[in-house]
Amino acid sequence: MKFIQTRGNDKIHPDEVEFSEAILSPIASFGGLYVPKELPNLSEEFFKKHLNSSYKELASDFLDIFDIDIEKEAIQKALSLYDNFDDSSNPVPVVKIEDDLFISELYHGPTRAFKDMALQPFGSILSYLAQKRNENYLILAATSGDTGPAALETFKNKPNIKVACMYPGSGTSDVQRLQMVTEDGKNLKIIGIDGNFDDAQKALKSLLASDNFKAKLKEKNISLSAANSVNFGRIIFQVIYHIHSYLELVRKNEIDMGEKVYLNVPSGNFGNILGGYYAMKMGLAVEKLVVSSNENDVLTRLINSGEYDIRNSKLIPTTSPAMDILISSNVERVIFDICGAKRTKELMSALEKERYYKLNAQELKTLQDIFIAGSCSGEEGQEYIKSSFEKGYLLDPHTATCFKTYESCKGSGIKTIAYSTAEWTKFSPTIANALTGEKGTGDIEALKAIASKADIEIPPMINELFTKEIKHPDVIDKEQIESEILKFL
Ligand SMILES: *Cc1c(COP(=O)(O)O)cnc(C)c1O
Repeated sequence: MKFIQTRGNDKIHPDEVEFSEAILSPIASFGGLYVPKELPNLSEEFFKKHLNSSYKELASDFLDIFDIDIEKEAIQKALSLYDNFDDSSNPVPVVKIEDDLFISELYHGPTRAFKDMALQPFGSILSYLAQKRNENYLILAATSGDTGPAALETFKNKPNIKVACMYPGSGTSDVQRLQMVTEDGKNLKIIGIDGNFDDAQKALKSLLASDNFKAKLKEKNISLSAANSVNFGRIIFQVIYHIHSYLELVRKNEIDMGEKVYLNVPSGNFGNILGGYYAMKMGLAVEKLVVSSNENDVLTRLINSGEYDIRNSKLIPTTSPAMDILISSNVERVIFDICGAKRTKELMSALEKERYYKLNAQELKTLQDIFIAGSCSGEEGQEYIKSSFEKGYLLDPHTATCFKTYESCKGSGIKTIAYSTAEWTKFSPTIANALTGEKGTGDIEALKAIASKADIEIPPMINELFTKEIKHPDVIDKEQIESEILKFL
């Protein structure tokens, strides 16, 4: 499989690259992204064959068909990381909620959010490539809370990779922060930034623009890579669980093979739902992809009106912070499929310069043939958490946004698979507030309150965070970041 670029070629980058190249250096010409040159088709036989196979067998066969330039052994090793999920025989359980609503739980990995689904195998493959090429890579990450822990967990003690992760000193939950600052790999640097997520992202950008920093990296023979969801090495693993979830419904006799379903995804940077989009294009029977947003509803407005408009938008802090976004990077890959490289470059530069672009009627129609969208407020989310709990299912505030969009799909005769992207343990104060009305508690009190009310246990990897030694206590000023990271390197 070759990869091409969403904004065309600047004649410095090669026209096409292999998978390994696309994941080691994920930023393409003109700041664009890499996309597969043509998607393979999954045959009826493929789906039938995998009705009886394990998650890993499905994944392995899928990657085989995708024809990526990674040795079989390295792929097997990467996929074996799913054995560490709660149930090694089924890392992604699918639960029935209503006659036509199913929840696919993507959070059963080590850091209890869906980021593990892709980052676990991705980290293994990136480190394998770096070793094979005898190169050293630095992964720079700015996190609002879920990507950081998942990236640290996957790269911890991996050869030829170092990670510097910046998180907002004010902004993450206690659990998210503790997951980062208690990590003890020698190749990890975790820095709290005095400020919010925006400040952390700005710090990352100025680092990437610093000539001094780049010169020092070169001196030390270190290349930069990225582990955020613009990296296709993450997207590829996010196609597989959409196919798996569908097959689970067939296995449970809830749908016939070939019957269409809705895939409903709580969306931020659009990486999760992009996996569903590629699965659909490769042959999975999908009626529509349903984009669920919170109050930061840029994606919903784009799909409903054709306008990407952030001229007067400010980021609104919500109770589903992993979906708080203004520029949702992965939409570009869909825009490219609809409009081609020339137009994509035009639209993306309009977004950068004018904070606005508008699709024409034909482009919008194509987009709406594939996607529907809706947004859910924090208050509505709290109601869904409460009513769902009363019926016996505990939701997190991101997953709750799907319940709003499901309202317009239910009873249509077409079943919905909604995705749960985080365990209740990661956003416990919000959930405790929905269930008991109490406010302003820390995570540990909220965890205990929910555990007692729901009569469940706090999972050990969360519970032990509160007594683990803190290895990275520093919260520093933005000005000191560069020298701190250089010291670490
Ligand atoms: C990252 C994340 C999302 C958003 O996923 P995207 O792929 O960025 O759309 C939603 N929910 C949770 C809990 C997340 O961690």
